[in-house]
Amino acid sequence: MSGPEGPIPRDDGSKRMRIIVVSNREPYVHRKIAQSVKVDRPVGGLTAALDDVLRAAGGTWIAWGSGSADRTVVDDRSRVAVPPEQPAYQLKRLWLSSHEVEHYYHGYSNQVLWPLCHITLDRISYRKKHWDDYCRVNRAFADAVIEETDGSSLVWFQDYHLCLAPRMVRERDPRVTMAHFWHIPWPDWSVFRICPQARELLESLLANDLVGFQTPLFARNFMDCVRESLDADIDPGRKTVTYQGRTTHIRSFPISVDYRKFDAMASSQRASRMVRTLRERYGLKDVLVGIGVDRLEYTKALVKRFEAIGLFFERSARYRGKFTFIQIAVPTRMKEPYLSYKKIVEAMIRKINRKYGHGAWKPVIYISTKMDHEDLAAYYRLADLAIISSVNDGMNLVAKEYVASQTDGNGVLLLSELAGAAEELEGSLLVNPYNIEAFSDSIREALAMPLDEKEARMKSLRKQVGEHDIHAWVTSVLDAARSLDDIKRRESRPLFEFADEVQMRLGNRELFLFLDFDGTLAPIADSPDRVVFSSPMRSSLERVLGSAQLAVVSGRALDDLRHRIGIEGIVYAGNHGSEVLLDGSVLRAEGVDRSAGMLRVLLAGLRDALSTVPGVLIEDKGITASVHFRLVDPSLVGEVLRIFWDLARGYESSFRITTGKKVLEIRPRAAWDKGQAVGRIMELKGRSLMPIYVGDDTTDEDAFRAIRGCGISISIGPNAEADYFLRDQEEVGRFLDWLAQVLSLRQGQGQAPVAADPLARDVVDA
Ligand code: UDP
Repeated sequence: MSGPEGPIPRDDGSKRMRIIVVSNREPYVHRKIAQSVKVDRPVGGLTAALDDVLRAAGGTWIAWGSGSADRTVVDDRSRVAVPPEQPAYQLKRLWLSSHEVEHYYHGYSNQVLWPLCHITLDRISYRKKHWDDYCRVNRAFADAVIEETDGSSLVWFQDYHLCLAPRMVRERDPRVTMAHFWHIPWPDWSVFRICPQARELLESLLANDLVGFQTPLFARNFMDCVRESLDADIDPGRKTVTYQGRTTHIRSFPISVDYRKFDAMASSQRASRMVRTLRERYGLKDVLVGIGVDRLEYTKALVKRFEAIGLFFERSARYRGKFTFIQIAVPTRMKEPYLSYKKIVEAMIRKINRKYGHGAWKPVIYISTKMDHEDLAAYYRLADLAIISSVNDGMNLVAKEYVASQTDGNGVLLLSELAGAAEELEGSLLVNPYNIEAFSDSIREALAMPLDEKEARMKSLRKQVGEHDIHAWVTSVLDAARSLDDIKRRESRPLFEFADEVQMRLGNRELFLFLDFDGTLAPIADSPDRVVFSSPMRSSLERVLGSAQLAVVSGRALDDLRHRIGIEGIVYAGNHGSEVLLDGSVLRAEGVDRSAGMLRVLLAGLRDALSTVPGVLIEDKGITASVHFRLVDPSLVGEVLRIFWDLARGYESSFRITTGKKVLEIRPRAAWDKGQAVGRIMELKGRSLMPIYVGDDTTDEDAFRAIRGCGISISIGPNAEADYFLRDQEEVGRFLDWLAQVLSLRQGQGQAPVAADPLARDVVDA
């Protein structure tokens, strides 16, 4: 991306990320119509563009399920594949009660954040119960995100409804890459400080890696608010904020419209026919036409607009009968203050029509039904000028849609200088909606403008919007987020540099520490037999055992593992977790014995075929097996792999075959992986505890994933799946000693470890 503030380094595009879009509104809505279910599709520019991205790349969209038939089509994880005719990604729905919608959406979002950010402060109406539900609903969104993320996820939050979710996600998954786009304005600190939760909102947004705003001004305002209220490091040059050890990039990405779509719709035969029909229907022959297209929304300043239009007709009598203004005003939030606002606007229009209208001619035509974009494109094309009068607006897409629809190249755009679009749309006639006299003069100026000036202005406007359309916008945000993800991975988090953060996350929780054996508790050796579990490591482990539950989870056979470690009171999980020794009895994954015969046949074949290659070691562990090639001459490794796969390929439907460090692991598909083993052990012995998992191998990644969101994962060497890493195996001892010290200090301070959550407390108390 190259935003106005300077580049975020581009990624090379080679890495695919799983995109998770999170928004209040959903792209597809299922509605009950009589006995059948109808699907509403995305129509808005942004929704359609994001839908395009997910259709192409796959991924998940998380949103409030608001349709009357939404529940009937989802699976048990509340997901439905969309688009219905050619499923390409998952839409995961969240269910909100009517109370929650009232409080979180109409309440805190639309009666606090919306008027606050649009600086219409008299309209702010704060209620504690609205805030409480805003928190609750954001928590539900965060839970849904956690259910969907993996090590390669990019979570992209949309807008002001979801301020708190980023921090809630970050607390449970420190590695995930998160971007947040703020579609509405961001006010300066003198305004934002009014918000009772100002600090909390800022802190949560800073849990993102990237926060995007519509204009550089809004981005600056945001950083100023951070400077005034948080103890953060702000680098205005790099546009970064570093708060509590985390860096967030702040950028502006002016949103846009689907230029080609509007251009095509406006130049279609359908549009030409519709323009003719409209002229006839509304008596617009030889009449200049103006257009306004808005949600019926006080920030669009329809009152100021009609004051200016009324004054225009008063002062420019020669345009009476010669100019008609068509106002499309769609009610979207049918509550106060919108109901009263509607009455005021309609009364103003009636007054203008009564005062200046004559014969068949009406100064203002008022339409209050929602149009689809195809019809709108025809209205835009019909109009000689468009008026955007917002007193504050994140961007204003109507301005850009009007430009994209000017296929004749001669419309005039009257644009409020207080709308975000004004920063970009060079060629528009800027107006200040508070200066009614100048505003009405601008209407006259637009109508009287010479054709060559109109054409020259529209040419640069169309170039601007054409080159910066919605697709370019989506690409620039995603490119920026991806490159930050790249940087983050390169800067993966060394545990001892984040020791304070880890300690904070441990809090006062009781712990269940899981450790892998080879490469974690003991250094890797040439062959499994030669691996040595050192006495210092044994002592470190024993020290932790006093104050936490312990389990060792290994690819080795259970007996081998138990004998090598030989410490009582530890849970041992062998064969990658398929056999677990817990409180004196052995648990085995169901069905693993059934494939034992087949495994023997495969191993006999491998022994025979690989006997020609010196250094290959085949380890039969009963349920699973490993083929080690650490001792094989590097020039022969290709040969080992070829022979192995020639034979093993035929067994893949029954066995899961994975590669590790110079080893091939063969496990029955029915076997538990390390993640499932951790889950099973936690269920039986540690429901109230916080899991920590330390491991070095690819098979440990299943466990990292299993505890995501509820525990802490630590790899040996950087690993994208883990929260933190230790630099090498030797640092494991240091980590155990550090942990033992943290635990003993907290016992020494007499703090009773607390249970993980209320449910867990019940279990403990029982
Ligand atoms: N819109 C529409 N049909 C209508 C009126 C408006 O589809 O009858 C669309 C319009 O095309 C534009 C959006 O609503 O895409 C309004 O976006 P804008 O940024 O102008 O204002 P917002 O409503 O987001 O504050």
